[in-house]
Amino acid sequence: MDVAENFRAIRAELDSIARDEKILLVAVTKNHGVELMREAIDAGATDIGENRVQEAAEKFPALERNATRHLIGHLQTNKVKPAVKLFDLIQSVDSVHLATALDKAAAAIGKVQDVLIQVNAAREPQKSGVLLEDLNTLINFVDTTGNLRLRGLMMIAPNLPDAENCRPLFRQMRKLFDELKSARAAFDFLSMGMTHDYKIAVAEGANVVRVGTAIFGERVYT
Ligand SMILES: *Cc1c(COP(=O)(O)O)cnc(C)c1O
Repeated sequence: MDVAENFRAIRAELDSIARDEKILLVAVTKNHGVELMREAIDAGATDIGENRVQEAAEKFPALERNATRHLIGHLQTNKVKPAVKLFDLIQSVDSVHLATALDKAAAAIGKVQDVLIQVNAAREPQKSGVLLEDLNTLINFVDTTGNLRLRGLMMIAPNLPDAENCRPLFRQMRKLFDELKSARAAFDFLSMGMTHDYKIAVAEGANVVRVGTAIFGERVYT
């Protein structure tokens, strides 16, 4: 597995898509060691994603590299304090309860925390994310906070054998994103697409993709 080669190939693929917005490639390093994180960054990765606060807290201090740090996994309110210290963009805000706790934690360290709202667009019961009918309430709440800045939306598509079946969902999300963006400032990121579906997500308008396996190989869970 040549991490540098994999990263550069996907970066080049994204760069070849002619569009007036840059597509951000988040290298998802969860369950991989700091060594591989460094390899990806040295190959040009500007953004890295972790899905657990505890794992990031162990790895980031040893990284000795600059990169934008994304939290892409579910965040529990009891982890908001380390989360606001560790992450530049928290992609998984999905409730007023969590937003309240994050705002307080960000205020306590004098930070304006960039966040995305995670949407459970396919209404999967096992997934986190706000349901579409509750999205406006959450957006309005985040707007009232003093220390959270809403930068866009995140979605994890259903893991279907044929990712092509998620195309309408990606398209629906881009439409929603554009509607919101037209009325807002600094609303820039639509994060959707992982190894098995990023090509389709990007074709339908994702401008942030979160890719792990295609860069680093299969994760081994022990
Ligand atoms: C693990 C993970 C990814 C990356 O998944 P791959 O299939 O390895 O590319 C993307 N997004 C989230 C939220 C994840 O937890």
